[in-house]
Amino acid sequence: MISTGSIQRIQRIDLRGADRATVDYRAAVPRADFDVEAAVPAVHAICEDVRTRGLEAIRELSERFDGVAVDDIRVAPEALRSALERLDPDIRAGLEESIRRLRATCANELERDAVTDLGPGARVTHRKVPVGRVGLYVPGGLAPLVSSVLMNVVPAQTAGVESIALASPPQKEFGGSVHPTILAACALLGVDEVYAVGGAQAIAMFAYGTGPCAKVDLVTGPGNIYTVTAKRILKGLVGIDSEAGPTEIAVLADDSADPAYVAADLISQAEHDPLAASVLVTPSEALAAAVETALEEQVAATKHVERIRTSLSGPQSGIVLVDDLEQGLEVVNAYAAEHLEIQTEDAAGWAARVRNAGAIFVGPYAPVSLGDYCAGSNHVLPTGGCACHSSGLSVRAFTKSVHVVDYSREALAAVAGHVVTLAEAEDLPGHGAAVKVRSAGEPAE
Ligand code: NAD
Repeated sequence: MISTGSIQRIQRIDLRGADRATVDYRAAVPRADFDVEAAVPAVHAICEDVRTRGLEAIRELSERFDGVAVDDIRVAPEALRSALERLDPDIRAGLEESIRRLRATCANELERDAVTDLGPGARVTHRKVPVGRVGLYVPGGLAPLVSSVLMNVVPAQTAGVESIALASPPQKEFGGSVHPTILAACALLGVDEVYAVGGAQAIAMFAYGTGPCAKVDLVTGPGNIYTVTAKRILKGLVGIDSEAGPTEIAVLADDSADPAYVAADLISQAEHDPLAASVLVTPSEALAAAVETALEEQVAATKHVERIRTSLSGPQSGIVLVDDLEQGLEVVNAYAAEHLEIQTEDAAGWAARVRNAGAIFVGPYAPVSLGDYCAGSNHVLPTGGCACHSSGLSVRAFTKSVHVVDYSREALAAVAGHVVTLAEAEDLPGHGAAVKVRSAGEPAE
């Protein structure tokens, strides 16, 4: 089913005529070689090192993996302030617009307590409570992802999280501190607890509480294989959001799509990482050919041409030919991409039928890049097929809920018989006794 062109061409995967009752679309559309299980031994050793040797281990790991010696891992407040003062005004305006839009969507996501009255004096409240302390991770190995500061911080602040710490890799170029644009974004949002620590060691620092960084309750944010593997290993000791690894884009398109738009969007995500996946799913042979031509033209003009070529020609990227859009929908639902664009006639109609995607971008004027920065949606999204069970970052990720049970004496009495019967059915008479003791001495009706 797979035909591969020259090393630098995107592969074609032909699913036309496949037996739809038996074909395994997940296996037919390959993903990046992002093997978290294989990374576990190395990352486990890093986490153990941080747990047992603390700051000393973090300093050594930063030297080994980031090539820089960091004495003080916590960024000084003056450095945050001066980064904001020196921030380019156009970048500041872009960040402010992004923050404004994110705050608007986040405010709309806030959930109210759900109060249920179950009879006189019997009430259960599903109370929403913000997580107490969070550790937010902002990648910085390949590119300083300042936008990830906003995507992590704004929903956390909207949820009402009281204590926010943020970590990003130390940059050799900036004397072992965090990238200044990331620092400026933190200052803009009023986040003053920032650590120059990257990858697995940052996640371990958050999870165990290391040196000046107190233990957090929840870690969120995207990252590379080391960061994601550390989240998987430490899950339980801390909460995590989703496993948000190398970026993925799938585009479901028909003849109505503009091949230049489709090619530009595939390239935009390939630019993130050599492991990034860019997949076009289409029933149109003509569109597939036109996108291939547009890719050739556009890739040559990009800045990160090698990274993009590696990603587009890798086994994780491809043009998938299908019989029709119905089959295309089956493919994209099975693939569960981090980002899914719909560039078809009646794009909204097709989008409404998508179950599995981290975020859906509808029509020709909603490119993924818009969502990366300024749509008002969140760009920290599940990858690797996790979108079939996980959600992107949102206010909800920073909120827990707790049932509050409030019953009066009479309300308990009204249901006591059922509790006793069910406790006896489970052979747990002590449970029933805890109810009976409360009605002892009550006058019989
Ligand atoms: P990063 O900041 O997570 O990792 C950099 C760190 O990796 C370094 O600080 C270093 O300490 C560590 N490291 C490097 N080599 C190592 C080694 N051999 N052993 C152990 N640790 C090592 O990430 P990055 O490299 O900048 O990549 C960011 C990733 O995040 C990209 O893949 C991008 O596509 C992805 N991303 C995903 C989303 C999403 O929502 N899914 C959003 C934005 C970015």
